[in-house]
Amino acid sequence: MDTVLSYIESNKERYLRELTDLLAIPSVSTNKENVQDMQRCAQWVADQMRSIGLQNVQIFPTAGHPIVYSEWLGAAGKPTVLLYGHYDVQPVEPLELWTSPPFQATVRGDNLYARGAADDKGQVFLHLKSIEAFLRNGGVLPVNIKMLIEGEEEIGSEHLEKFVADKKDLLKADLVLISDSSMFARGVPSICYGLRGLAYMQIDLVGPNRDLHSGSFGGTVHNPIQALTEIIAQLHDKHGRVTIPGFYREVLPLTKKERAAYKRLPWSDKKYAKDLGVKQLYGEKGFTTLERVWARPTLECNGIWGGFTGEGAKTVLPSRASAKVSMRLVPNQRSTKVGKLFESYIKRIAPKTVSVTVRTIHGGEPAITPIDSPGVQAAVAALEKGFGKNPLYQREGGSIPIVVQFKQLLGLDTVLLGFGLPDENSHAPDEFLDLNNFYCGIKTSAHFFNELPHFMAARRKP
Ligand SMILES: [Zn+2]
Repeated sequence: MDTVLSYIESNKERYLRELTDLLAIPSVSTNKENVQDMQRCAQWVADQMRSIGLQNVQIFPTAGHPIVYSEWLGAAGKPTVLLYGHYDVQPVEPLELWTSPPFQATVRGDNLYARGAADDKGQVFLHLKSIEAFLRNGGVLPVNIKMLIEGEEEIGSEHLEKFVADKKDLLKADLVLISDSSMFARGVPSICYGLRGLAYMQIDLVGPNRDLHSGSFGGTVHNPIQALTEIIAQLHDKHGRVTIPGFYREVLPLTKKERAAYKRLPWSDKKYAKDLGVKQLYGEKGFTTLERVWARPTLECNGIWGGFTGEGAKTVLPSRASAKVSMRLVPNQRSTKVGKLFESYIKRIAPKTVSVTVRTIHGGEPAITPIDSPGVQAAVAALEKGFGKNPLYQREGGSIPIVVQFKQLLGLDTVLLGFGLPDENSHAPDEFLDLNNFYCGIKTSAHFFNELPHFMAARRKP
């Protein structure tokens, strides 16, 4: 390990130059005019893989942008890590808000500024460099590696699911490693082990068969807008809990260890409320803010419409009213089941004065990799060594659909080892990667590969 680490230390400048080359390719997956650049970027990644000693390097065409694959399977009897990332980036507009050109990586202070620096080229590249450090110093890795780098993450990974389903044998592994997320804060390495899912619904209410004059008809029929808001007002109780019967039945309770871990994170409700411009925070009673956003399910009305919303006045008693409602789900809730509970509850509480339709717009499942699992424990040990600091545990309130696909299609848990920062401007002008996270990230990656076999072996022992 010492040779590997000193190799990393003495090659920092070259790493930065190479990453700058990768960041210079405008691989904006959503732009038609960048189709050739997408090909060029896939080729760059494949060439890089070959040059550091990865084998079976292949560029798989898809109906969209290509997927790059490679492997190193020389560690017989050792675990196999499936490393996923993406080489495509978000568009750069508005250009005038960039301090330096988005495809000319520029160092300012402790940061490297460029589109894709953090999301996700920089984070893919740091793993390539740790793999290189092993293969150039002794020629072996402590684990087997399979790398899967796609070009359509920023446009919904449209062709990835089919690829993974078709290539189950090729992608066989023990766990998935993804570096495409952020740490809790600068200087606070953290490991994300849980994601929320989603059930997105629409409610449509119809009252009278046409819009009515509120003077001639007001007082005779139930206004659908009023009926709809009456329904929505019943979806939470006075403790901020969702009232749908059975909604919390499958919810995995927070463990003592988790609650203690969240308390250690640097956090201030006051600061958070001030930043959001609200006088007071709101949410389910009995849980802290971080617990509510990471480990508790929620229900939000995302939009509501009906009647007259133009300028001036129109005394209409509308025929229809609608709302979009989304529910964030936590392990072990299932989106279809929660969707059904929602639908039957809405139908039950809807007044007889209107007719109601409920439909599902889309859904996604929550995911969790237990904190005592060998993958998470290896990541914790790696962060500790790579950053010289005890990492903290966190979850994420949002979703990463690919994590659920890997679980469903390959049966694999994912370790999310993020080296970005919450304020890194991914998807915005002046995206940057903290250079300390970049260099410590390379070392952390090396430590992760080195530690994983020990934690996996310890798990196997009775
Ligand atoms: Zn990303």
